[in-house]
Amino acid sequence: MTDSAPRPIREIASYHAHVYYDPASTRGKAEQLRNWMGERFSVTLGRWHDVKVGPHDQAMYQVAFASELFAELVPWLMLNSGGLSILVHPNTTNPKRDHLVDPLWIGTPLPVHGDKLPEEAEAELPLTPNTSPTLRP
Ligand code: ZN
Repeated sequence: MTDSAPRPIREIASYHAHVYYDPASTRGKAEQLRNWMGERFSVTLGRWHDVKVGPHDQAMYQVAFASELFAELVPWLMLNSGGLSILVHPNTTNPKRDHLVDPLWIGTPLPVHGDKLPEEAEAELPLTPNTSPTLRP
């Protein structure tokens, strides 16, 4: 009753952190967190989505980051989420599993609509960060 082998870590091309907020009450907090990240980490900050998009149940923006950053960025988000819900998930070739089975949550978990996610996708390409950090985390 065991699987033949564990999945190798090389399946993970990169990570996303989805930062959720309420446009009416916590957008300012989300904006501060976004600015803080941009000042401290070399990441790819995605567009603001003030309305629900894809599998996401609340307004959010995406932060894409390289695997090498995980050990620093994720603990930093734990300390600085300010009560926002953040979904951190690996990017493999199975987006559905990445979001529903294999992620971790910082703050209160929210629904994720798996029917909007494919079970197969091309591997993510290497990231092009769009931030220029000047401060240490
Ligand atoms: Zn994502």
